Amino acid sequence: MKTWFAGEEVAAFTAFCRQALRTALTRSRASRDSMTEESGKALRRSEEALRRSERLFRAIVETSPDAVSLLDREGNFLYASPTAAKLCARTGTDMVGVNVFDLIAPQDLDVYRQRWTECIAQPGVVLRHEFRMIMPDGSVRYRESLRVNHLNDPNLRAIVSLVRDNTERRRLEEQLYQSRKMEAIGTLAGGVAHDFNNLLSVILGYSELLLSGLPETDPMRSDLEEIRDAGKQAAAVTGQLLAFSRKQLMNPTVIRLADTVAGMERMTRRLIGEHIELATLTRGSAGNVMADPVQLEQVLLNLVVNARDAMPAGGKLVVETADVYVDAGHAASLGVQTGPFVLLAVSDSGTGMDKATLDRIFEPFFTTKADRGTGLGLATVFGIVRQNGGAISVYSELGRGTTFRVYLPRTDAAASPSPPLAPSAALRGTETVLLVEDSDAVRHLAHELLRRQGYQVLEASNPGEALLAAEQHSTSIELLLTDMVMPKMTGSDLARRLAAQQPRMKVLYMSGYADTIAYHNGVLPPGFAFLPKPFTPEALLGKVRETLDTAQNDTKPASSVGVSS
Ligand code: ADP
Ligand code: MG
Repeated sequence: MKTWFAGEEVAAFTAFCRQALRTALTRSRASRDSMTEESGKALRRSEEALRRSERLFRAIVETSPDAVSLLDREGNFLYASPTAAKLCARTGTDMVGVNVFDLIAPQDLDVYRQRWTECIAQPGVVLRHEFRMIMPDGSVRYRESLRVNHLNDPNLRAIVSLVRDNTERRRLEEQLYQSRKMEAIGTLAGGVAHDFNNLLSVILGYSELLLSGLPETDPMRSDLEEIRDAGKQAAAVTGQLLAFSRKQLMNPTVIRLADTVAGMERMTRRLIGEHIELATLTRGSAGNVMADPVQLEQVLLNLVVNARDAMPAGGKLVVETADVYVDAGHAASLGVQTGPFVLLAVSDSGTGMDKATLDRIFEPFFTTKADRGTGLGLATVFGIVRQNGGAISVYSELGRGTTFRVYLPRTDAAASPSPPLAPSAALRGTETVLLVEDSDAVRHLAHELLRRQGYQVLEASNPGEALLAAEQHSTSIELLLTDMVMPKMTGSDLARRLAAQQPRMKVLYMSGYADTIAYHNGVLPPGFAFLPKPFTPEALLGKVRETLDTAQNDTKPASSVGVSS
């Protein structure tokens, strides 16, 4: 794993230097002793050889990308190569007399002393270790050192130290670790949320059903309402988990981010209260992005609420949008491709965060707000931003404040007008609905809800049954309400098969799980009717009515969605 040269090589190198010095010295002594008229030339030659060898070794040391230094027993610098001085943010001459212990980060000082003692005790042995250094500007840098005790060597009389800067490698390792961690948590959270969705549909649906059947004065109502409300809260949590694991289905449109921010300004102001000052800025033209507007509002909302929470005694909140170009270096650290982005920055002058907190803020359920926090705000933001092809970075200073920066890929397409509102007609109907759903509980619930509103319902627990039911049914089917992901045949395959016999049939898909294999990044094509699970009765009935009432509905989504099965 370590990439440095082996200890034997260092030992060989120092041995070679020592040998060369000895040879040169012996030669010059010899020439001095045998000084005759003939030997004047020989002396000059050997002096020249000495100077050449000196220049050679100086060049090696001074151009080495690793820092070379000589220290005395107490750790005072006797010599520092230019790189060594650079690693300590000083000039070469400044280093002489500096004590190395003064440069070590306090948290690593004990271990450093221990290693130093070992080095003193073991002359000639190459010892390696890593430590952190505090720079004059207060920043912390990682260093890896190889150290050999040559104190007893009459030619050196020093501890020879080779030091390499490990900061960048550490940063990359850390970045990799963090992104793997988020991936793993995302997979786990997505799986759990998927399983919970069906259960929650049932809990919510049946509590609504029971409530609708009870008279206003019934003493059981309040208990039932408690159950329903808890179910709703749980559904909100699974929704956020799905967002985090990037499994939320989204309806991207071209939007101007600055307009989203402006549209939310009044709500933002109300949310943060009087004691916090709000400024919204747009730098440059703040171009368009391709994203789900509802998701973007969620992102802004979560960041604003967090900023508010970080400023209990008041402060300043700045929401900024700008066009930026992300160059190669920046793109690597953000984990995106280089190119034009639109930036949404939310800055507060609040409490700020320490490193330990910063490392975990995007994990679901991580919160420092003992009683009020859910720890899902930033997890949701993270998932949404990544799902929309963007990136998020955070800069925070304890006691000073925090800036979250969200980068979304910029698009040249023109912003689309806001979509028409869903019709809020009476949610009743008499049409025939073919309901296909493999979860018995969800199917029974949907059946019951539709039947009570006047619909004719044909029920099937799998696509095979559905085809059979359609064949046996004499009149036409107006709506296919089907699960999207089923074993053997997908919802869209079923829709295609049925479309031949039922030319007027509309299709409404339901799913709690945007199976990433079946769906391209969870992106829905326009005109594709979809009901996310878990659903409330109003959501189901509303969507059914809306789908039946639309003039056209894409019954053949397979080609446009890219089902690969
Ligand atoms: P919650 O707000 O429910 O705690 P979040 O996921 O939104 O969950 O945030 C997680 C944690 O990140 C917070 O508990 C807080 O410690 C920290 N945090 C987030 N935003 C800020 C901010 N603007 N300033 C300081 N700390 C923050
Ligand atoms: Mg929050």
